[in-house]
Amino acid sequence: NAALLLDGVEKVYNQGKPNEIAVLRGVHLEVSPGEVVAMVAPSGAGKSTLLHMAGLLDTPDAGRVTIAGDDLSGKSDRARTAARRSKIGFIYQFHHLLPEFTALENIVLPQLAAGVPKGEAQERALDLLGKVGVAARAAHRPGELSGGEQQRVAFCRALANQPGLLLADEPTGNLDPGTSDQVFDALMTLARDTGLAALIATHNLELAGRMDRVVRLENGVLVDA
Ligand code: ADP
Ligand code: ADP
Repeated sequence: NAALLLDGVEKVYNQGKPNEIAVLRGVHLEVSPGEVVAMVAPSGAGKSTLLHMAGLLDTPDAGRVTIAGDDLSGKSDRARTAARRSKIGFIYQFHHLLPEFTALENIVLPQLAAGVPKGEAQERALDLLGKVGVAARAAHRPGELSGGEQQRVAFCRALANQPGLLLADEPTGNLDPGTSDQVFDALMTLARDTGLAALIATHNLELAGRMDRVVRLENGVLVDA
C-alpha cells in the first residue's frame, strides 16, 4: 500500500462567486513507504491547500485521499481525526513547542494523549531525541534551546506516535544551512530505517534535490520536477 495516495484531488475556493479560484485541478500523487518526496511550488500555488488535504484537515471537492490503504475521502470527521492523530505527523516552519514544558515532555505529552504508558513514552522520546542528536537537551525548555534544537525537538514530537506519514511545510525555512542539514539527515535516516514516508514542501531546491523525488505544483496539478 502507498503511505499516501492522492487521486484526482480538486479544490475550489469561493465556488460560484466572482472570486472563485480552482487551486487544485486533479492532483495525483503516490508516496511509498520509506520514500521522501519534495514538493516545490511558487507562493500561492496551493501547497498549503494540498498539505491540508493530505493531512485530512480539509476535504477535497473531488477525488480521493488514501492513507496507508485506508480511503478516508467519504468518512466521518471522527474517523478522519482518528486517522490523522494515529497515522500522520506534522512539522511546520515554526515549531509551536509548548514553552512551559521540557523537550522531553513536549514529545511525551502527545503519546500520553494517545494512551501510551508514561515509561514507554519517555523511552521513545529519549530514543527520538538521540536520533537527531539532542538527547543532552531533554530537560531543557524550548526557550533554552537554539532554533535548530527546537526544530529537531518538533521533528521528534511529530514522530512521537510513530505515524507512517510525515507532512511538513517549510520545515527548515528558519534554520541555518548546517542545522537544516541535521534535521534533513535525521529524516532520511528514519525513512530508511523505519519506512517512514514524507511529503515535504520546501523552497530550498538544493535540499529538495537530495530527496528521493521532487514534484512541482503548477496550475493546480503536480508534475515531476
Ligand atoms: P501556498 O501554500 O502555495 O502559498 P495556498 O494553498 O495557501 O497556497 O493558497 C492557494 C490559493 O488559494 C491562494 O490564491 C489563496 O489565496 C487561496 N486560498 C487559500 N485558502 C483559501 C480560503 N480558505 N478561502 C479562499 N481562498 C483561499
Ligand atoms: P489535537 O486536538 O490532539 O491537538 P488535532 O487532531 O486537532 O489534534 O490535530 C492533529 C494535528 O494536526 C496536530 O499536529 C495539529 O497541530 C495539526 N492541525 C490541526 N488543525 C490544523 C490546521 N487548521 N492547520 C494546520 N495544522 C493543523
